[in-house]
Amino acid sequence: MHISLDKQVALVTGASSGLGAAAARGLAEAGAAVVINYNSQPEPAEALAEEIKANGGQAIAVAADVSKEEDVLQLFEATLQAFGRLDILVANSGLQRDAATVDMTLADWNKVLDVNLTGQFLCARSALRQFAAQGPCPDISRATGKIIHMSSVHQLIPWAGHANYAASKGGVDLLMRSIAQEVGEQKIRVNSIAPGAIATAINRKATEGDAAQALLKLIPYARIGEGVDVANAVVWLASDASDYVHGTTLFVDGGMSLYPGFKDNG
Ligand code: NAD
Repeated sequence: MHISLDKQVALVTGASSGLGAAAARGLAEAGAAVVINYNSQPEPAEALAEEIKANGGQAIAVAADVSKEEDVLQLFEATLQAFGRLDILVANSGLQRDAATVDMTLADWNKVLDVNLTGQFLCARSALRQFAAQGPCPDISRATGKIIHMSSVHQLIPWAGHANYAASKGGVDLLMRSIAQEVGEQKIRVNSIAPGAIATAINRKATEGDAAQALLKLIPYARIGEGVDVANAVVWLASDASDYVHGTTLFVDGGMSLYPGFKDNG
């Protein structure tokens, strides 16, 4: 199976690090022009854009806080100015502000919901408007547009000490499926990826040293994930190879969502 995203334009939020950066690289390698959104760190985003261009691809870095409506509108405007269209949105930005619920501040609750859920809504809404304005373009892709939400195994698995994060990802699941139900007839495909434990900045403490050994007990496939594991799933979901996949969550988790604690009779 050969995947080409030639002539397609992809916007990846939170792409200055981790899974977003890996997804941007993967999409560029498949031929897409890539908009690398960053919130506060221009240097790695600009460096990634330069790397993609040095390898013969097209990329720009654009600042935007995905939880702010005005920023998101400007991000999409910058995308159109640079590349003239949009085919793929990877709504990837996310963060954690962990605390036991009894100690959780309203500020930390709101911050996580604002970025992880409202940010995904704002970006999806702008993408849907752009896809509708463009209409179908079968020479470029069978779908009029593709949205990939970055969720988490914690849309399914409860997570003590992280209620804000788990609630935000549970929200992403129903946001994604509701949008998918709404726009399927327009040939806009909407799906989520639910990573398990992938070694990035968001979970460095849990994926290194002794903590990594404990983490491996939760992963039947017995390895911690790498950015490229998720990037490969992003590229496939963005391509016509997955054209009949709509409204679903692809778990990229080495089996973490199989409840491995029940393996030996619970
Ligand atoms: P990361 O911390 O490297 O990446 C998160 C990105 O989001 C960063 O680039 C950050 O700048 C960006 N961001 C944060 N607030 C933002 C805002 N207001 N506006 C725009 N961008 C903002 O961590 P990651 O692991 O690459 O996480 C990426 C996504 O994957 C997140 O949604 C996360 O919840 C999800 N995820 C990660 C894992 C994992 O194991 N790494 C597992 C499940 C889900």
